[in-house]
Amino acid sequence: MLGLMQEWPLVCHKIIDFAARQHPHREVVSRSIEGPITRTTYAGIHANSKKIAQLLTREGYKPGDRIATLAWNTGRHLEAWFGIMGMGGVYHTLNPRLFPEQIAWIMNHATDRAIFTDLTFMPLVEKLAPAVESLRKVIVMTDAAHMPETALTNVVAYEEWLKEADGDFEWADVGEDAACGMCYTSGTTGDPKGVLYSHRSNVLHAMMACMPDAMGIGAKDVILPVVPMFHANAWGLGQSSPMIGAKMVMPGGKMDGQSIYELLDTEKVTFTAAVPTVWLMLLQYLELTGNKLPYLNKVVIGGAACPRAITEKFEKDYGVEVIHAWGMTEMSPLGSLCTMKPEYADRTGDALLDIKQKQGPAPFGVEMKITDDDDNELPWDGKTFGRLKVRGPAVASSYYGGDGADHFDSHGWFDTGDVAHIDEFGYMQITDRSKDVIKSGGEWISSIDLENLAVGHPDVAEAAVIGLPHDKWGERPLLVIVAKEGCSPSRDGVLGFMDGKVAKWWMPDDVAFVDEIPHTATGKIKKTALREQFAHYRFPG
Ligand code: ADP
Repeated sequence: MLGLMQEWPLVCHKIIDFAARQHPHREVVSRSIEGPITRTTYAGIHANSKKIAQLLTREGYKPGDRIATLAWNTGRHLEAWFGIMGMGGVYHTLNPRLFPEQIAWIMNHATDRAIFTDLTFMPLVEKLAPAVESLRKVIVMTDAAHMPETALTNVVAYEEWLKEADGDFEWADVGEDAACGMCYTSGTTGDPKGVLYSHRSNVLHAMMACMPDAMGIGAKDVILPVVPMFHANAWGLGQSSPMIGAKMVMPGGKMDGQSIYELLDTEKVTFTAAVPTVWLMLLQYLELTGNKLPYLNKVVIGGAACPRAITEKFEKDYGVEVIHAWGMTEMSPLGSLCTMKPEYADRTGDALLDIKQKQGPAPFGVEMKITDDDDNELPWDGKTFGRLKVRGPAVASSYYGGDGADHFDSHGWFDTGDVAHIDEFGYMQITDRSKDVIKSGGEWISSIDLENLAVGHPDVAEAAVIGLPHDKWGERPLLVIVAKEGCSPSRDGVLGFMDGKVAKWWMPDDVAFVDEIPHTATGKIKKTALREQFAHYRFPG
């Protein structure tokens, strides 16, 4: 027997309809690419997204067409997303930090037909366009006055283009299972793979993200997504914020400590989210200037393990709650958020920091398990680690074009490539990427735990641990360190600092000091490059 309730498809344009109806005057503030701070509202975003949908349809783009965006977080980028989705198209976010050849490869794989871009990326688009045969149009998100000279054909200035439409347009009649967004993984192993989000998965993911024990956000919040929209959907904030009618503050292309601080302060931001590196820059800036964060309540930190020192500084020195989160492009991207269940609610001080080192429990909508290499499920005892597998309505069921089928099993579980343990209360902790875990004498050593510990040393700016060949143990850990400016920590000083805080046999066999640690386009330590760099290294003795 079927239920007798209305069929109300979970489509993304309903989110912006809602925001414009219930929160029309709520602001979306942007640090524009041209320079000044600009302001619009959800009513304004809605009006422009209708125009974009109308224009794209008029110009022959069809539901299902992939339309790229190569842009920073701004109000214009947000309305481009809703416009593309609203005509039935698929917004395809491109990461400008990849090499041009990689971006062109991705665009060809996705057969992108048009691109919305920022002024910053015009030189890049000029390189890409000739290499992408399917590309028909370039929309530069600026006005006529700022339009650069270009040899490209079929290029328009966004604000001029919008004048050609009146916005009198019915959203496309697409089902909730239709594709609406796309993002490629950064391809640290093999070619990048396309993740294709549906309207339904985006809507459900946005609802999951807002829940009190997830991000816990509402209309009274002022949300600053520092995490780029091209990095796993700005962790869903482009949909969650309008869904709850929160004011948004968009940082544009400036993510240094001072620029972020200015927005946090002048716009009275209450909630923000980004990778640890961004927060390192902000905390350094605050330390230098003595500025405080009187308005900020919560910061979500994820994309890489959040060092204990960052959590401690935010919570103790600035009174800001840290939510450590884990996820990935394939999960839309949220997988877990470390908020406190009653079982841990009375923890304070160091005991609380211990829990916040974990990536936390999965919200409703994400199922998790850990297994051994033969797919046997492992216990949730907070110690036993294994391959982390997930499933849920906002988790990929396959990659675009059928690539990487070995990541998915017949029961719908997706192998995340991460290694983790889960405790009795459901708190998951990542111990490594499966390809980075160090296998010493048949046992596993977590490189992430060692890195977190090393960055707690007052003279260490960044740390990476890699496994290198060892005659007796198979592999042993090498700690690679970048010192803080003006500091010169010693090998024995760092090892002495770590001693006693991890099992003896986990201790790095040696420490190497470098000026810089290589990073991927999403800001993660590039362990492959580091392993190559130290390929000829031999442990002492
Ligand atoms: P990529 O395309 O580089 O994989 P993602 O942003 O999708 O980009 O990265 C997902 C991966 O990032 C996860 O599988 C995990 O290894 C790592 N990651 C994300 N958040 C955390 C975290 N809080 N702690 C440790 N690792 C994390």
